[in-house]
Amino acid sequence: MGLRFVFLGPPGVGKGTYASRAGPILGIPQISTGDIFRAEVKSGSELGNKVKGIMEAGGLVPDEIVIDVLKKRLEQDDAKKGFILDGFPRTIPQAEALDKITTIDMVLNIDLPEDILIEKISARRVCKNCGEIYNVADINREGIHMPAMPPKVEGKCDKCGGELYQRPDDKVEVIKERLVAYNKQTAPLIDYYRKRGILVDFKPTAGPDEMVPKIVELLKKHGS
Ligand code: ADP
Ligand code: ZN
Repeated sequence: MGLRFVFLGPPGVGKGTYASRAGPILGIPQISTGDIFRAEVKSGSELGNKVKGIMEAGGLVPDEIVIDVLKKRLEQDDAKKGFILDGFPRTIPQAEALDKITTIDMVLNIDLPEDILIEKISARRVCKNCGEIYNVADINREGIHMPAMPPKVEGKCDKCGGELYQRPDDKVEVIKERLVAYNKQTAPLIDYYRKRGILVDFKPTAGPDEMVPKIVELLKKHGS
């Protein structure tokens, strides 16, 4: 047993927000393949140029590329004591590759109704500089109350003053493509991990301030 976790769930469910807050509490890194690819795109590297179009269209980066990137990331020192994988694996071949690299202690399956996902993603804003996530949608229905998390000053990051932007793939047309990719290619992982007995279901009902402590508790209980 250890602290090797996977956060599974559709785009917009809050994986990134939860992982970025739970990781530091447990002293383990959040490893987001989406963040890694966005950084590559920004730097204009060869890898970045390869994945840019795919990401902008809401498709999935080919397995060989993602697996290679993830493998290298897990070799870094900070990942030795554990990690939260946020956005990986996203296909069965990726999960099979991960099984060859390491043992996962628990998979947190986070889920929300699709209409709420679409509303949340459209209202997401990200800091260009530090990646902090904000949300300007206030959701209060279907037994779910997620207050907006706007920046203190419009368009500016509270943490670093950086400029906020909307990810190109957070536009409505692309969101739909990403949900299709999720349902077709990623959702089968729920069964893959459930059969193995390491899946824990989690349905958020409130904002991160209330949900993160619950998630940390689940991670502590099922990990280490
Ligand atoms: P979200 O979970 O909000 O959809 P991510 O930041 O995790 O967003 O991913 C953004 C994009 O990066 C994806 O739509 C996809 O194109 C690419 N990507 C990230 N992780 C993977 C992965 N494990 N496999 C394939 N593509 C990926
Ligand atoms: Zn910032």
